[in-house]
Amino acid sequence: MNTIRALLADARQVLAATADTPALESEILLAHVLGQDRSWLYAHPEHAPTAAEITAFTKRLARRRDGHPIAHLTGRREFWSLTLSVSRDTLIPRPETEGLVEIALEVTPPDDADILDLGTGSGAIALALANERPNWRVLGVDRDAAALEIARANARGLGLPSVEFERGDWFSALPAGTSFDLIVCNPPYVAQDDPHLARGDVRFEPVQALVAGEDGLDDIRAIIGAAPGFLRPGGWLWLEHGRDQGSRVVDLLQGQGFQQVALRRDLAGQERYAGGRMPVRFLG
Ligand code: GLN
Repeated sequence: MNTIRALLADARQVLAATADTPALESEILLAHVLGQDRSWLYAHPEHAPTAAEITAFTKRLARRRDGHPIAHLTGRREFWSLTLSVSRDTLIPRPETEGLVEIALEVTPPDDADILDLGTGSGAIALALANERPNWRVLGVDRDAAALEIARANARGLGLPSVEFERGDWFSALPAGTSFDLIVCNPPYVAQDDPHLARGDVRFEPVQALVAGEDGLDDIRAIIGAAPGFLRPGGWLWLEHGRDQGSRVVDLLQGQGFQQVALRRDLAGQERYAGGRMPVRFLG
């Protein structure tokens, strides 16, 4: 009899060779297929799912065994306090990007601000900020139409209709004269020959959301070069970057006249975020 207990025991075997956490991942996939949460599985070990449910589970298990990201198999990923829909059209939101949300909340006045999330993808950063600060005006920009569809659907699903989304390649869609108190961005920053691209979830994610030229800094250079034209005096730019890129990103920010340039580390202790501020007032 295919009880939850038996299905999970089999599933752990299927995933044992390829998944980091076979027991947890088996539970996530079965709970998803049954429309329950994991605690429900523990409470009903003798429950027998229907044949259709078992087929749906087995299919996902096989794809997970082949390396497909869990988030693609469930269509969801938790980010900050939100559950986001994700697809193959966007980067899967990462826990380290929550650090960028924390920094944004810290450096920007809570009551009133204009925020730009560049390369918003699933809308993760923009939506987390709008959820925390209902008074902020938040705009998410992405050059990919399919990503924007996901971001807009997430905004609707989460009840955050005030967040706006616009299609454009970095700043290209923004009218001259548009300016923000904070620009936040998780750009592509992986070098094109990074061996890490051949392993794990990234194999199934859009390459244009990950890779930025020979040294991974092509997009960061473009963004830092253009950002001063879209920031108010005293406005901040904060970017996520690769763990070995910190000092180069600092140089780029200083080269563009940013002040209070700083690096922050992620929870794993890696340099992961760099930011700087436009001069508060121009002298002379
Ligand atoms: N941190 C991601 C990874 O290395 C990359 C995300 C990004 O390029 N913005 O998997």
